[in-house]
Amino acid sequence: MSTKYVYMFSEGNGSMKELLGGKGANLAEMTNLGLPIPQGFTVSTEACTLYNTSGKVLSDEIKAQVDKAIVKLEEISGKKFGDNANPLLVSVRSGSRASMPGMMDTVLNLGLNDEAVEGLANATGNPRFAYDSFRRFIMMFADVVIGVSKKKFDKVLDEYKESKGYGSDLDLNVDDLKHICEEFKKIYRDDQGKDFPADAKIQLYEAIGAVFRSWDNERAFSYRRMNDIPYDWGTAVNVQSMVFGNMGDDSGTGVVFSRNAATGVDEIYGEYMINAQGEDVVAGVRTPKPFAQLKEEMPAIYDEFVNYAKKLERHYKDMQDMEITIEKGKLYFLQTRNGKRTATAALKIAVDMVDEGLITSEEALLKVEPRQLDQLLHPTFDTKALKEANPIGKALPASPGAATGKVYFNAEDVKEASERGEACILVRLETSPEDIEGMARSKGVLTVRGGMTSHAAVVARGMGTCCVSGCEEIKMNEEEKYFDLGGHRIKEGDYISLDGSTGNIYLGEIKTVDPEISGNFAKFMEWADKVRDLKVRTNADTPKDASKAIEFGAEGIGLTRTEHMFFDEERIIKFRAMILSDSVSEREKALEELIPYQISDFKGLYEAMEGRPVTIRLLDPPLHEFIPHTEAEYEAVSKQNGKPVAELKAKAAALHEINPMMGHRGCRLSVTFPEITRMQIVAIIKAAIEINKEKGYNIVPEIMIPLVGEIKEFRFVKEIVDSTAAEVIKEAGVDLQYMVGTMIEIPRACLTADAIAKEAEFFSFGTNDLTQLTYGLSRDDAGKILNDYIGKNIYEADPTARLDRTGVGQLMQMAVEKGKSTKENIKLGICGEHGGDPSSVEFCHMLGLNYVSCSPYRVPIARLAAAQAALKFPR
Ligand code: PEP
Ligand code: MG
Repeated sequence: MSTKYVYMFSEGNGSMKELLGGKGANLAEMTNLGLPIPQGFTVSTEACTLYNTSGKVLSDEIKAQVDKAIVKLEEISGKKFGDNANPLLVSVRSGSRASMPGMMDTVLNLGLNDEAVEGLANATGNPRFAYDSFRRFIMMFADVVIGVSKKKFDKVLDEYKESKGYGSDLDLNVDDLKHICEEFKKIYRDDQGKDFPADAKIQLYEAIGAVFRSWDNERAFSYRRMNDIPYDWGTAVNVQSMVFGNMGDDSGTGVVFSRNAATGVDEIYGEYMINAQGEDVVAGVRTPKPFAQLKEEMPAIYDEFVNYAKKLERHYKDMQDMEITIEKGKLYFLQTRNGKRTATAALKIAVDMVDEGLITSEEALLKVEPRQLDQLLHPTFDTKALKEANPIGKALPASPGAATGKVYFNAEDVKEASERGEACILVRLETSPEDIEGMARSKGVLTVRGGMTSHAAVVARGMGTCCVSGCEEIKMNEEEKYFDLGGHRIKEGDYISLDGSTGNIYLGEIKTVDPEISGNFAKFMEWADKVRDLKVRTNADTPKDASKAIEFGAEGIGLTRTEHMFFDEERIIKFRAMILSDSVSEREKALEELIPYQISDFKGLYEAMEGRPVTIRLLDPPLHEFIPHTEAEYEAVSKQNGKPVAELKAKAAALHEINPMMGHRGCRLSVTFPEITRMQIVAIIKAAIEINKEKGYNIVPEIMIPLVGEIKEFRFVKEIVDSTAAEVIKEAGVDLQYMVGTMIEIPRACLTADAIAKEAEFFSFGTNDLTQLTYGLSRDDAGKILNDYIGKNIYEADPTARLDRTGVGQLMQMAVEKGKSTKENIKLGICGEHGGDPSSVEFCHMLGLNYVSCSPYRVPIARLAAAQAALKFPR
């Protein structure tokens, strides 16, 4: 049986997103709901996969199905494709399962040729409009489908206007436009060595192929990577009869949200432009009017729209982002989808919709992207500093947040500067999909053109990047890299600050303050906490980090990297003296000096956690990280331990390793230098005894041994832990419980987890090392190859950021099963970076772990991800 690749809108429905893409499924659903939809058909995502995996040709079978659909569309519309009396024109747009705004290409007015343009002129009685549409089509088709540079067309158009002394496109008359069309076709012929395709069918096949290929372009790759969208989903293509928003002052186009996408307030929010076509609003070519104004300009259309918008919102139980066209006083919906929104808006909408009885709190939890919460956790401007700041301009508050940084004028420069560690503000005339990576790396984005639904605004909001758009007072000189605003000249590298919530632009740097969890955020997180099974801990090395994490809802510390406690200038000298000791007694003497620091560090952590569980990991530095590098550093150590620099250097050289990541670190340090472990245990136990006494807590320290791959290693270190702890406890004359567990971060530990679990009281997956060692890919150097690996479709995602379920995950599962086979109730957690990544948290839930541990700022993300996992995969 042959596969069905093409579906009329009337044949689909909203649940067919995988096959028809989001846009196609929604167009079908809206057709079924009786909304005014220009009819059309969808070529499925399966056709995309077939196209991209079979030499990028459209198969005869797909072509035949497209031909049939066109015949049906001709019947529905009463128009004919390529006709010179009343031609059917179509738009061709992409639409994947998840919406990818601005990622894929669109072609409008397809079906025009020398005859059809006359037909369009006759049918509309508006030859100027017909030829204007034709010249737009030739350029768009040549640019998007074939890849002829748009600049060539712009140049011809600009020169022509100049020769005629015209100020704007609107001055072009029919004869001018006819002439431009001829010129444009000539550009095409010169570039391609053949005529512009006159056959509407050929135009259509080419355009469908181009949309499929655009799934494969760099922008799409980078968007998918940022949003965890798999390559093999593919995109569908929607072919829809054209309606025209550019037919005069009774026509227009708009992008409208059913609630305010910035604040979440229940009000119609969006923009429109009279006498404009489709993409003009989104592309930010002109600055549009606020949608509320349509109420005065076209009251009946406004009311009709609001009715439908509310109907759609109730139907989809979510805020809708709709694209409309008004053609000669008639309203059409071109698409609807669940709207992108700021995190503040997402929470308000979710909480309001629960209050309105539209959804349950559990449904609400599934509507917010965990990663988006990040936006709420980042600083805003310090109010006092803001009062003293120097505003130099104001534009649209397109995406909230506070950003301070150095100005750069293109994505490339931002990339370089951010690699140097600079905070950047990207300033552009308008942004386009090429700017995505630059936007992601910027603290904020400022554009000269474009409204609240422009590319810059939509993309920045999705990323949580602060954005101020449409600042038309800016006099920009992109080439020489400066702009003038409010009487100031701001050059590349100068500091400015942006307030994405007010639209204010300030000169210079402004101090920022940390946010707190309250209001809708707090309520929403309480719902999340009620449903999740996983506990959420934090990785924290200082009381400050620990307190921050508690504010964000952490339930304990899952990892303290004790080596991070020695980076302080005063301590590092003592630490270096310790590792460069020649004998045990010398080292013990050096360690004596470190004990007081460690005791106060651990007390600080216990105190910050107010009695919650704390896991402390024994020292795990690759030793090379601590070896002195400069002459001055050697001299400081020499002063500390009285040894000549030359001797210290010789000792350091002996410690040098070719591959320190797999070298003298983790429990291996305890095996070679047991006295270091003894010092740490003394500090961990003493600190707990003291703080329990002072605060009345009942801290049970969880002592974690790193890098275990062999049960005898674990046993060896545990023996040191137990004997040292026993001495300290005995000496203090008190009772203290403690636990000894291990990191599972070496593949061999997974393979032998049953033996290890017999003696370890808990496992914590160190998925940073486990990923490194499973892939044989250095975590310090992976960055250099990952772009190519992901760009060339070898890795779907960065395995150091998102847990690889197939390989690393299999090892984890084995460790869980083997561990439980010998100790049924063994406590299981994760403390690698993956503990704060939503997809990885979901996997940890599925594995049945007890907790995840992540950096403080990711705690709320992990809480929500854990709740969503529990709702999707009940244990
Ligand atoms: C790990 O390997 O996942 C881990 C948490 O330890 P570290 O990152 O300190 O090696
Ligand atoms: Mg590790």
